[in-house]
Amino acid sequence: MFPKDHFFPWHQVNAQTFLTQQENRSHAYLFHGQQGIGKGHFAWILAKALLCTSSHHKPCNQCQSCHWIDLNHHPDFKCVVPDILASDFGLTPLDIKEKLSKDVRVEQVRGIENFAQLSSHQSGLRVIMIYPTENMNLIAANALLKILEEPPKNTLFLLVTHQMRVLLPTIVSRCRLWHLKTPTIQEGLDWLVSHGFEKEQALSAIHAQAGSVIPALTTLQEGTNWRRFFLDICSQQEAISIPYLLQNDTIKSQNILEILHGLQQITTDLILTKLGNSPKYFPQYNPIFNNIVNRLPVERLFKLNQFLTEQKKKANHPLNEALFLQVIFQKFFVLLNFQLT
Ligand SMILES: [Zn+2]
Repeated sequence: MFPKDHFFPWHQVNAQTFLTQQENRSHAYLFHGQQGIGKGHFAWILAKALLCTSSHHKPCNQCQSCHWIDLNHHPDFKCVVPDILASDFGLTPLDIKEKLSKDVRVEQVRGIENFAQLSSHQSGLRVIMIYPTENMNLIAANALLKILEEPPKNTLFLLVTHQMRVLLPTIVSRCRLWHLKTPTIQEGLDWLVSHGFEKEQALSAIHAQAGSVIPALTTLQEGTNWRRFFLDICSQQEAISIPYLLQNDTIKSQNILEILHGLQQITTDLILTKLGNSPKYFPQYNPIFNNIVNRLPVERLFKLNQFLTEQKKKANHPLNEALFLQVIFQKFFVLLNFQLT
């Protein structure tokens, strides 16, 4: 779940424009824009702001209404998302299977009908959010169309899509279109850096995801996961099994350059520790780094760093990725005096 209390910085202007234009509001909006920029989050916070009883321009995060939205108990708000996205919005999947559904199902759309027939709790507005609207089969889409054709009173529909062309044209024509801005590279970068990621790393993640900030954040978080797993292995006293490392999912999901980058960060931290400074990248592992460098001359660490730099040059086209990685891990642990099984 993303921030529950505010809009992403790049959507602030969009949000203010929407929230200050209360006259002639349509009963249904279709928010569209590039994938991975937080459109679903925008609709969710917008619903919260619209239903907030103390503020009209943003959620106050204090009133009963804001509190209910946070707990997913608001009687006048319905958040319709596929099971696969349920947890992102604090919801429980309707049907827990090995593979969660990617679709908004027809039962969910029929649930909207029932919801719309109830009178609103606060005798005011009711808000229904549907995300992503394109993930719906024809039966579900037709059921939605029927609702939009005879919209219930005092009900606002917030539909979200990044593929407007695949929606039923009759659904699109029932909605007022609202384009959501893609963050600039700088905006995305500032946001990721504010989440504690390094500038260089954040920038390469944004580029790798073609400017989509949310997937970039996921990539960076996964990157953090494999580093943690790897450092935890380093902290154990037992001999290290390279095949076990290579089988780990968090490591398998990374590309080689990313792994080399991480190993170089660890090596930099080891050098800093050996020279009596604090680690730059993984300060929480300081005691482990101390243990490792105690038994090593500093030259060995420089040698390791040089080895990793050389491997980076070869990393783009290794003949056999698994073998390439195996050699790198082996050298890494041997130079650091670890026992291998
Ligand atoms: Zn509030």
